[in-house]
Amino acid sequence: MKPASAKTGMTTNRWTDSKEALDLLTRQKAIWPLLKQNYAAYKEIATKYVIAANKNIAIQYNPSRITSVTVDPQKRKAPSACLICPDNLPPEQEALPMGENMLLLCNPYPIFPEHFTIASRQHVAQNLMTPFLYYLNAAKCLSDFTIIYNAPESGASLPDHLHFQAVTSSLMPIESEFEEHLGSIIEESSRAVLRSLMQGNRSGFIIESADATEALLLYHHLRDALTAAQDRLTEPRMNVFCKYLHKQGWQIIVIPRKAHRSSHFYAEGEAQILVSPGAADIGGIIITPRKEDFDKINAEHIEAIFEEICYGEHEVRTLCEQHFSS
Ligand SMILES: [Zn+2]
Repeated sequence: MKPASAKTGMTTNRWTDSKEALDLLTRQKAIWPLLKQNYAAYKEIATKYVIAANKNIAIQYNPSRITSVTVDPQKRKAPSACLICPDNLPPEQEALPMGENMLLLCNPYPIFPEHFTIASRQHVAQNLMTPFLYYLNAAKCLSDFTIIYNAPESGASLPDHLHFQAVTSSLMPIESEFEEHLGSIIEESSRAVLRSLMQGNRSGFIIESADATEALLLYHHLRDALTAAQDRLTEPRMNVFCKYLHKQGWQIIVIPRKAHRSSHFYAEGEAQILVSPGAADIGGIIITPRKEDFDKINAEHIEAIFEEICYGEHEVRTLCEQHFSS
């Protein structure tokens, strides 16, 4: 294990809270030109709204995301070229501890009014299995934010380095819309429940739990089912959204995926739309780095993209029948 660099501090078990995160963002805007410039550009960003399959969708024209949207997910990055390895952070970047294994960083390419990366101190591949309790604790400590996770081949632009993202809460339509789509109970324990989420062409699952260990157990069962259903050797394709509510505990939405990108990304000429959906897009904020795609994309495109990438209600039902006993 490489020692933590001087800039990212000693190994400490302290966890940063929401207020400290916001203070970090204020400090970074004052001293880091790239971040300041991209946040200023974000404020002026064009957004348009459509209804696709009866759901609210925001489309964001964000040119700063062109690199992450077009990145080749198969191309492995060495630690020396990794943008979030502690030793490679730009000199202006300040990191705060998220327990002894992770760091809170400001994301210099924001797609939310507040956008942080919670990165492992070590260069290890994206996989939520081992750090799941860290994920839950990050959501609890940063309870003003929603914590999102992109599995490999599910929109992650940095699949080689374990990270979550903390983003402004309640901006993604899925965060409120899911409540109308709670499906049947798949498994439950004394303080936790796993249900299906039947929301059309972005169906999936939700774990609600007041206890971290019980949430972990249900997550393991769900993950095993998805791994088997997707015939994966590594982590199943999925996007995860987690919010901690002081009265109820954790809400963890898991949207399984069939593909990293839809055919629109690979089409040529007029038919091409450069959208590479990660959690934000699946949550209802579609990021278009090119103006022509922002102008062109409509409800039919979005419905088709979700249909190619996500599970429909029938696929969730089939998965439950085949991989859960009840
Ligand atoms: Zn790295």
